[in-house]
Amino acid sequence: MIARRGLMLVLSSPSGAGKSTLSRLLLEAEPLLAMSVSVTTRPPRPGEVDGKDYHFVDADTFSRMREEGALLEWAEVFGNRYGTPRAPVMAALEAGRDVLFDIDWQGAQQLSQRAGEDVVRVFILPPSAEALEARLRGRAQDPEEVVQARMAGAAAEISHWPEYDYVVVNDVLEESLAGLRAILAAERLKRARLVGLPTFVREMQAALPGGGATGE
Ligand code: 5GP
Repeated sequence: MIARRGLMLVLSSPSGAGKSTLSRLLLEAEPLLAMSVSVTTRPPRPGEVDGKDYHFVDADTFSRMREEGALLEWAEVFGNRYGTPRAPVMAALEAGRDVLFDIDWQGAQQLSQRAGEDVVRVFILPPSAEALEARLRGRAQDPEEVVQARMAGAAAEISHWPEYDYVVVNDVLEESLAGLRAILAAERLKRARLVGLPTFVREMQAALPGGGATGE
């Protein structure tokens, strides 16, 4: 009803904290939220779908996209490169939709520098180190050395929590989802995002007694 700027909701976490599951549930619950599908040079895991989970590209394609300025941000994580294609994000925001990003702390920093007030950053923490390890091991697709590298990387990723606007400790999935939806609902109501508000209020005032409209 009141015109609003779209927002960029960034979720970061060490892998294994449940971020992908939470992203999926949030997208199902929020029709006005669209996922930003990243490009990556990482090979697909079993079950991952090209164009849905990621756009899987080779190193040359990634470099070309970066040089052409087609990426809003990019970073190297665990020896693979990941980046956010610019065009779909801009199209979604212009259409008044919000965009969800599953990116690491480096991407969150770059987006904040480039898009400032439009970015809302949420860090997702596992409930404990043991829970994180159990989740990483339960994800049987990854070879042992990958699990080891991700556990080592978790401490580094977690150290960036103070750079985020909100922190959700993902113990009970439904509660974490409710937390994310509350963040989204509140951020959507921020005065600075409601660009149609001045007109809306001016018209209301004009229609009120003494507000400049004809009549009483
Ligand atoms: P995974 O290989 O487990 O899918 O992702 C590894 C890490 O890369 C995760 O922390 C994920 O959030 C991050 N990541 C995925 N896509 C992007 C991206 O486009 N940009 C950045 N900066 N990080 C990304």
